[in-house]
Amino acid sequence: MIYEAEWILPITSPAIRQGAVFVDGGSIVDFGPAAEVRERHPEQAVTVFHHAILLPGFVNAHVHLDYSVFRGLFDDCDFGDWMLRFMVAKRKLDSHDYAASALLGAMECVGSGITSIADTVFDGEATMRAANRFGLRAFTFVEVFGMDDTKINRVLKYAGERIERLKEIAGPLAKVGLSPHAPYTVSGRLYQTLAEYAREHGYKVATHLAESQAEVTYIRDGSGVLAHDFRELVGWDDLQLTPTGTSPIKFLEQYDAFDKNVIAIHCVQASRSDIEVLKRYDVAVAHCPKSNAKLGCGIAPLGEFLSAGLRVGIGTDSLASNNILDMFDEMRMTIFLHRASQASAVCMSAEQALEMATMGGARVLGSDHIVGSIDVGKRADLVAVDMEYSHFAPIDDPVSALVYGANQEDVFFTMIDGKVVYDKKVFPTIDVDEISRDADRVRVKLRA
Ligand SMILES: [Zn+2]
Repeated sequence: MIYEAEWILPITSPAIRQGAVFVDGGSIVDFGPAAEVRERHPEQAVTVFHHAILLPGFVNAHVHLDYSVFRGLFDDCDFGDWMLRFMVAKRKLDSHDYAASALLGAMECVGSGITSIADTVFDGEATMRAANRFGLRAFTFVEVFGMDDTKINRVLKYAGERIERLKEIAGPLAKVGLSPHAPYTVSGRLYQTLAEYAREHGYKVATHLAESQAEVTYIRDGSGVLAHDFRELVGWDDLQLTPTGTSPIKFLEQYDAFDKNVIAIHCVQASRSDIEVLKRYDVAVAHCPKSNAKLGCGIAPLGEFLSAGLRVGIGTDSLASNNILDMFDEMRMTIFLHRASQASAVCMSAEQALEMATMGGARVLGSDHIVGSIDVGKRADLVAVDMEYSHFAPIDDPVSALVYGANQEDVFFTMIDGKVVYDKKVFPTIDVDEISRDADRVRVKLRA
């Protein structure tokens, strides 16, 4: 099938006006000016999108689908307070509830043009099944928690069992990795053990890192809300807590936690020397500007990540800390926060933000040879954005129109691996009302 649109944005090459992409067997076989593509493949059927932009699907570099039902519950809390409330609320839900929650998140991703996700999973089965049902390309990182070093073997065994279980139910587009949650929930020794385990088995690792000032205070001084209220809540207050005198990033380096297969999520509180550490080990960064801003964590030093040559992708984080899974919103937030913090309008362009939301995320996940751009031989993960609305008019530059003007509702077509999973704003094989009703049911339980 050939897909034609007024604009094609391949990402790795210039925009094409009146362009087309020929998809066959789930792959991109050809693309270019529509007249030429038609001429080269005259036997092929053609779908014409008219006044639309066709681009590769977004790669969401950090999300938690299973937390989707927590949307809007703790909207105006600082990070520490938010984390405490969230931990309490999480305990109210069972595996059926997390399954409903993950479906809600997967539905929003696909309907927003997100075709790949890096999901750190609390309830892995919920996310894996939701990704399978919606046809999402999912990297699921099994979350691990543990501060008691006498239990490391047990924690590792349990993590291994969960990974094997996820592999059993994984669809053809799913991969599994490990996620030591964060330096305030995982001991240095456990980080080290998990890093060794991941290297031995060839798994990628994603970890929340240097997200908040509360985390910095905890690691450096052994004090603050995470050292007291949080540890008490989780039941770790009988364990010894030793201040390290260093930053979260340097703390993890001491435990040999870094290599090129590690994704550091957030890194808001990263100094120049911390960034040098990340660069030394080729650690990739999942930048979540809106979640960081909303929780009052600050603005990550994006310019320094980029000038150090780190691989950077954009993540929405979960709906518990970011009320919409809208990558257009994230691209704008990435640009505007960076420009505002640098007091410069030329430090980042719309084109750079779009590259980061597609190819950048693919590089973070090591899948840039498969997805992230419209190139011959890549898998066909494509998204069409409707430009009929007044907020696009008039258009000169499609990248500028898309990044500064579009939002998730403008996406009307999503294809993943050559399969149409969202068409004319409809999910062809999904009962949307059932998913919404089930999410409402869980929300009632959460409020109780
Ligand atoms: Zn997260």
